[in-house]
Amino acid sequence: MSENTHDKPHPCLTCGACCAYFRASFYWAEADDATPGGVPVEMTRKLNQYRRSMLGMDGAHPRCIALEGEIGRSVYCSIYERRASVCRVFTPSWENGEPNERCDRARAAWGLEPLRPGDWSAGE
Ligand code: SF4
Ligand code: SF4
Repeated sequence: MSENTHDKPHPCLTCGACCAYFRASFYWAEADDATPGGVPVEMTRKLNQYRRSMLGMDGAHPRCIALEGEIGRSVYCSIYERRASVCRVFTPSWENGEPNERCDRARAAWGLEPLRPGDWSAGE
């Protein structure tokens, strides 16, 4: 999920699929027990010596504990300003002029069409 720098409503705000499909894992020190203002550590679990993941991402029906709302309708990340780098760099398809196969795959898993270039700017 990424921030809105475009002139249409941000597609991620009516999606959230990637936050309930991929496991968001990251270097442990991104959590706020090591980095003030980082990912709330109580919303994570230790994966191994080096990495943590968001809670809720294990099992057959993953959904990040920080994801609020209804997938495919209206969602937001409750720790948006504190989300991990893995979340910050995940680019929705066509936001930067290129498709993202992982975005498309997550949306497909939730029955959502892939984004199109025209989802990002008026008149396209
Ligand atoms: S799957 Fe793509 S459109 Fe949906 S929230 Fe993630 S990045 Fe945004
Ligand atoms: S922390 Fe936020 S952006 Fe990252 S997976 Fe969870 S809900 Fe999505």
